[in-house]
Amino acid sequence: MRKLPETMVTGLRLVWRAAPREMALNAALQLVVALAVTGQVLAGKRLLDRLLTVGDGESFGVVVGPLVLLSAASAVAAICTVVRIEQQRVLAELVSRSAITRVHEVSAAVDLLAFDSPAFHDRLERARVNALSRPLQMGNGVLGVLSALFTLAGISLALLLIEPLFFVLILVAYVPVWLATTRASRVAYRFSVAQVERDRRRLYLSLVLSRRDEAAEVRAFSLSGFLRRRHDALYQERIDDVRVLATSRMRMGMVAGAVTVVLNGAAIALLVWFVSNGTIGVADAGAVAGAMVLLSGRLDALAASAGSVYESSLFIEDFTSFVADLPELQRRAGSGAAVPPLQSLVADHVTFSYPSRSEPVLRDVSVRVEQGQVVALVGENGSGKTTLAKLLAGLYDPSDGTVQWNGVPLVDLDRTAVRDNVGIIFQDFVRYTLSAYDNIAVGRHERNDPAALREAAERASADSFLAALENGYDTLLGTEYSYGTELSIGQWQRVALARAFFRDAPLLILDEPTAALDPRTEAEFFDRIRQLYRDRTVLLISHRFSTVRNADHIYVLEHGQVAEHGTHDELMRRQGKYAELFLLQAAGFIEPGPDASS
Ligand code: ADP
Repeated sequence: MRKLPETMVTGLRLVWRAAPREMALNAALQLVVALAVTGQVLAGKRLLDRLLTVGDGESFGVVVGPLVLLSAASAVAAICTVVRIEQQRVLAELVSRSAITRVHEVSAAVDLLAFDSPAFHDRLERARVNALSRPLQMGNGVLGVLSALFTLAGISLALLLIEPLFFVLILVAYVPVWLATTRASRVAYRFSVAQVERDRRRLYLSLVLSRRDEAAEVRAFSLSGFLRRRHDALYQERIDDVRVLATSRMRMGMVAGAVTVVLNGAAIALLVWFVSNGTIGVADAGAVAGAMVLLSGRLDALAASAGSVYESSLFIEDFTSFVADLPELQRRAGSGAAVPPLQSLVADHVTFSYPSRSEPVLRDVSVRVEQGQVVALVGENGSGKTTLAKLLAGLYDPSDGTVQWNGVPLVDLDRTAVRDNVGIIFQDFVRYTLSAYDNIAVGRHERNDPAALREAAERASADSFLAALENGYDTLLGTEYSYGTELSIGQWQRVALARAFFRDAPLLILDEPTAALDPRTEAEFFDRIRQLYRDRTVLLISHRFSTVRNADHIYVLEHGQVAEHGTHDELMRRQGKYAELFLLQAAGFIEPGPDASS
């Protein structure tokens, strides 16, 4: 409650920043409606006054004036309400866009490691979902409170002038409604926070059941029943919780409503008694009754608006605390020393742990990459190769030790500039549902150079099949949208390689770049690697030892540590882990001939 005024200002500022003109128009319309409603009360009272004089012999013409006034006020209120409701749709979209843009800015700027944290995903989801509706709910709530207060002031003034006692009575009758509304908002907020993680799990299952990437496997393994049951079980838990919430809110609402009805009833009974003993005239009593109806309507509106202000304030705090990190994140991204041309990249006694594991996945790892070299990281699955590559690319920071660019720790360098100097193609590179052209251009989207892009595709042996697509490079890759088509995994891998060529960065990190290529293309790629990446520095990651034998230096990773390193010949001579695994893998390719035993 103490933070409420501050959050209200924040909410209004969010709406104002997104759409000042629309917000001003909306506020103006609300104000006009409020004025029109006050006009209705006053015109109504005058109409009643005049109507009673008609009975005393006045001509019927005396009611025309107030009648016209009443109709005009009603017409203005009705028209402005329609305009406001429709105009609000546009306002809602503008506010949503502005808020979600800020959420995207944060999610793009946070450290990669944040994406391994469930707490971050909860916060992200809450900010994302609330960004769409809450600022506007707050804006509307505040405007609603203002307009309700405004009309209330008008009606109350009328009522105070006629009979102040009733004004007090009705006000008191609404205290329980107010209390119930704020309490219900608090309960709803707590409920929604508690649901986030489970809702995310449920949403994930729903996506698996409806996405193209999983569709084949879901069918092949007949998974839909299994996944649906899991999904439905999570939904059932939510429904059970919603029932509890609804019951508790219903109970609060009913108690509050009952008290209000009793108090309102008492006020009406009092009014009738006053009329019967002549304390109050019939015209005044009629006006009081009319005002009471309007007043309780406005008080209802006030309670609802105040409730939505309160409820949205709780959610807006989530949103603002999420986007509050943005300036710091942007400052950090742009700070640090300039990045000189690469001479060496070194991991110096690096240890690294993922947040979800207590055991480090890299322990005291030292590797060195010199400008112009092809360096290989080899090791079995899970030995830490990809993690090390991400550390070398500055995507993660070591828990211990340093990664140094020309001897300067990466943490002291401008992070954006470091990334600019690195091209990294992950093993699970992204297949964007964009055109073939864009799928390569994302390597360096700001470089608008179709000729270079075509050349990159040629170097990756992708040009022939991309050019042959129905719309050539403009063909959409992905079949969820109209005019799209699909590539084979091997063809996708060549697109990813083209992406790396097009990036044209001084340092290239290729994580299993040929895993999906046929053996001939793979052999060709590694034979030509020096020619393909002339003058560039290449860090090659592979679990296939045969592919890296031409590298200048080979590091063998085992259980997150460097087991040994050297050139292929040196490592073979040592007859250690490398030689053992190299020969083991080579043996897999050589079938013993029919006379092998002889
Ligand atoms: P490699 O590339 O050699 O196959 P990785 O670097 O991908 O190995 O993984 C090394 C170890 O770290 C594995 O045991 C893997 O399970 C674990 N790991 C990888 N990514 C994460 C992550 N995001 N969170 C927790 N553990 C991870």
